[in-house]
Amino acid sequence: MDYASYHRRSIEQPEAFWAEQAALIDWHRSWDQVLDGSRKPFARWFVGAQTNLCHNAIDRHLATRAEQPALVWESTEVERSRSYSYAELHAEVQRMAAVLQRQGVVQGDRVLIYMPMIPEAAFAMLACARLGAIHSVVFGGFAALSLATRIDDARPKVIVSSDAGSRGGRVVPYKPLLDEAIARAANKPAKVVMVDRGLQAWDAVAGRDVDYAAERDAVGAAQVPCVWVDADHPSYILYTSGTTGRPKGVQRDTGGYAVALAASMRDIFCGQAGQTMFTTSDIGWVVGHSYIVYGPLISGMTTVMYEGTPLRPDPGIFWSLAERHRASVMFSSPTAVRVLKKYDTAYMRERDLSSLQRLFLAGEPLDEPTATWIAEQLGRPVVDNYWQTETGWPILGLPSGVEALPPKLGSPGVAMPGYDVRILHETSGEPVAPGEKGVVTIAWPLPPGCMQTVWGDDARYVGTYWSTFPDRQVYSTFDWGVVDARGYVTILGRTDDVINVAGHRLGTREIEESISSHAAVAEVAVIGVADEVKGQNAVAFVVPRDATRITDAAGREQLAGEIMQTVQTQLGAVARPARVLFVTLLPKTRSGKLLRRSIQALCEGRDPGDLTTLEDPGALEQVRSALSAS
Ligand code: AMP
Repeated sequence: MDYASYHRRSIEQPEAFWAEQAALIDWHRSWDQVLDGSRKPFARWFVGAQTNLCHNAIDRHLATRAEQPALVWESTEVERSRSYSYAELHAEVQRMAAVLQRQGVVQGDRVLIYMPMIPEAAFAMLACARLGAIHSVVFGGFAALSLATRIDDARPKVIVSSDAGSRGGRVVPYKPLLDEAIARAANKPAKVVMVDRGLQAWDAVAGRDVDYAAERDAVGAAQVPCVWVDADHPSYILYTSGTTGRPKGVQRDTGGYAVALAASMRDIFCGQAGQTMFTTSDIGWVVGHSYIVYGPLISGMTTVMYEGTPLRPDPGIFWSLAERHRASVMFSSPTAVRVLKKYDTAYMRERDLSSLQRLFLAGEPLDEPTATWIAEQLGRPVVDNYWQTETGWPILGLPSGVEALPPKLGSPGVAMPGYDVRILHETSGEPVAPGEKGVVTIAWPLPPGCMQTVWGDDARYVGTYWSTFPDRQVYSTFDWGVVDARGYVTILGRTDDVINVAGHRLGTREIEESISSHAAVAEVAVIGVADEVKGQNAVAFVVPRDATRITDAAGREQLAGEIMQTVQTQLGAVARPARVLFVTLLPKTRSGKLLRRSIQALCEGRDPGDLTTLEDPGALEQVRSALSAS
């Protein structure tokens, strides 16, 4: 099929196009209206229809594939694996749903999931979907303060958690962080369901904490029917960082999400029922939501869920798992590939990867050497794709299931169905010519599956995403991009202060706020600095209250260590800056605006650019010498 006309139709006749795609999923009740645009920039898809995400992921497959593996769990951390057929997954999810019901969870309640990569985490997500409860998964690498902020915003009735995770063979306790987060939070959950893995002893809080194993026994072979919910009923909230310290709760719908995932599995990922998909992400990120849990299951595939690092027991583990489970579709991140690039390629070449069709990479820019290297090693197409937590599925990519378009190195590809991508001039808001840099935007409406709003804050949704170009009805991605004459877009970095470390989006303000809470800190600037493996690293420039603390190397090292620990304790290891450097003043304009780009340029050995507005040139000199001393 000709992709250009397929895409054009999705833009020119969105209602007809998406009504057709909607046939990919089961509905309890059909829609009265495909798209309600009466309250722009909001877009409601499949108004009046009813469905259920869990039904589409599990129940509807029972007639045809009850015995097929649905979820395969592999852990190199605890050296275990488990496989659940669709019938077994159905039973486990109903048990989890029954346990949640016993804690009082009903449709619309929020359930926060703070868990390692174990099957029960997926059961909990699917159980929430089954009940019409709204899950909010918080990545296990986040610590007490990050967790407390999310608890306060989502106000979960119940939290599902676990004693511990494991990373690189080391136990990472979860329960103490959870207890601290709940102590800090103003809105406390009524119950905490604990999945005890036996990794770390924990103290139960009387009247609040319940043991999952005991509850599971108590509910037996529970039968919990799917609750039919409206298509625009929220399925989940997933927090993501922005330019302010307060994370945004990306709210996703149910019907549009199911349709978009089903269409993306066919058009982009080419995953077919009965095949296996192995996505190396974590359920705490959007890739994990869409392409570990919901996408592959909605398509009747087997999904592989992996607890472990790319390097243990050896750097071939991803490929061993792909071989063992005959994966057809793999999805990973550029950082994971860059990590593997340092090791012997025999690990990959000796594996039988004949089942593999494509490797998809996303979450951060894919550099050309990495893309070329991995494609050569695998002898398979490597497909870059660009999207955001907000969109839930790819904005740019290659529509391999529609037409085999050639890849273009350095570009994730062309606009995916339903995305009217426009590159606009930063100030005029006019579309730029091919080859010219502009802001990557999406004209209204965002297609099904994209965020509905910011949880509990419609004004923030409109103010953040739809106000960059007030005269135009466009969603800003906050990325720079350039489009060529064939419609291939290349992403050129963020327009805001968000940084991307190993594919994880971090708000510099959030890290700055955490560092500022250290009593010795007067001022701080956190900058994203290019890193060969992780894409970017967070580097903090700190002005101490008392300059005598940093006069000698030992003093600097001590304070830097304390600051890193503060961030790790409050936000989590994921946000810990790679370096903390000290200065006595930060480079600012005369109006007090921090010159982030200039600091970043110096850190990356580039020219700091126009400095005519700089208040005190000595500040940049200090940045220079702090860098050369480090
Ligand atoms: P997140 O919501 O955490 O997935 O982060 C989304 C951001 O990551 C985007 O706005 C981009 O800045 C970046 N990003 C994601 N995928 C890609 C890609 N394939 N190429 C370049 N940047 C990407």
